[in-house]
Amino acid sequence: MTVTTETNGTGHSWQSLPAAQQPEWPDQEALRKTLADLASYPPLVFAGECDQLRARLGAVARGEAFLLQGGDCAEAFDGVSAEQIRNKLKTLLQMAAVLTYAASVPVVKVGRIAGQYSKPRSKSTETRDGVTLPVYRGDSVNGFEFTPESRIPDPERLKRMYNASAATLNLVRAFTTGGYADLRQVHAWNQDFVRNSPSGQRYEKLAREIDNALAFMNACGVAPEEFRTVEFYSSHEALILDYETALTRTDSRTGDLYDVSGHMVWIGERTRQLDHAHIEFASKVRNPIGVKLGPTTTVDEALTLIDRLDPDREPGRLTFITRMGAGKIREHLPNLVEKVTASGAQVVWICDPMHGNTFEASSGHKTRSFDDVLDEVKGFFEVHRGLGTHPGGIHVELTGDDVTECVGGGDEVLVDDLHQRYETACDPRLNRSQSLDLAFLVAEMYRS
Ligand code: PEP
Ligand code: MN
Repeated sequence: MTVTTETNGTGHSWQSLPAAQQPEWPDQEALRKTLADLASYPPLVFAGECDQLRARLGAVARGEAFLLQGGDCAEAFDGVSAEQIRNKLKTLLQMAAVLTYAASVPVVKVGRIAGQYSKPRSKSTETRDGVTLPVYRGDSVNGFEFTPESRIPDPERLKRMYNASAATLNLVRAFTTGGYADLRQVHAWNQDFVRNSPSGQRYEKLAREIDNALAFMNACGVAPEEFRTVEFYSSHEALILDYETALTRTDSRTGDLYDVSGHMVWIGERTRQLDHAHIEFASKVRNPIGVKLGPTTTVDEALTLIDRLDPDREPGRLTFITRMGAGKIREHLPNLVEKVTASGAQVVWICDPMHGNTFEASSGHKTRSFDDVLDEVKGFFEVHRGLGTHPGGIHVELTGDDVTECVGGGDEVLVDDLHQRYETACDPRLNRSQSLDLAFLVAEMYRS
């Protein structure tokens, strides 16, 4: 793989188009140097892995597999620790085990991990106690701390993002291929989980059943390699186009461009304008691409996105991540799915039940209710079942830690509990117990 140089001296096609949500870097020379360095760094993922994920997602598009995509709203540099990475991975592996076993469907596992450092914001400034400062745009851009110095965009942070992503991905690869993700460890992922947590106990029961099934297969002389390692992929929102461009390389095997900062990248609700830079960028790279679709998405927009991003109608290339809100999904999703299906395109449809369900609690915390999250997923299944299309997966914001950021769940978090462990740098995430609850409930929906 070689570093991409300028195309015909004018840069890439997306670089001349308007791009929303980009930081105002104060020092252009420092930015230029940083980007030149980044462009010389090795890729974080191999283009062949992106192709493999596209093939896996092709199975999801055909209705043969289910996509579980999840992780932090915003990763943070100080969250790059063995413990936090292990906890997140463990939660995703437990959810995947529940879905695979209880819903009897192959699960494609994709983390919002190893690159999810940049955040689109609805306002460019933030005011506290009469002081107004630039908004926090993610650790890749500026600091979370509410001081004028910390909020200045610093291009050096883009290098820290690369390094943090590399370190995270390295550990994830070690865990998933080095034995930790072996299905025979299905109990170990639950070990430190609160003993009396209802979801932990429910999981323990399922893990015993998996154990029995494995023992049975073993006795029959079957011990497939697939049980020993796990295919796990990284994904993030491709937001800061300077960074994504510096990590975009020509694949020496095929001559195609790949964004080698992660396996899958998605374009967010605020940057999916059809004639802007983000969609143009996504149209030029061969990675599997996701696009968030909010409740205002029109059929025309969805069809044009397909023409732009998936002109060859290749199952697995394009994933529509709908995030309508529990109260809107039943009204807005059917027409989109119906018209897209009628057009002959085979996209992956997955449900993000988080971003349409955020509200401010009486305590002042930005939160989400587990019931709303669940209801949006229910609506998603109802719509797809009604149309005979495939409810392809879920996209969730979660953490492996016992935070108190979303209210509800089996191990109920109350509004009065939110202050106890409210740690997110951006949106509220499901904690481990809520994530596991969700997996059990989604498995039931999938089965029925
Ligand atoms: C996100 O996924 O964190 C996000 C900002 O989502 P959306 O673009 O759907 O608002
Ligand atoms: Mn978010």
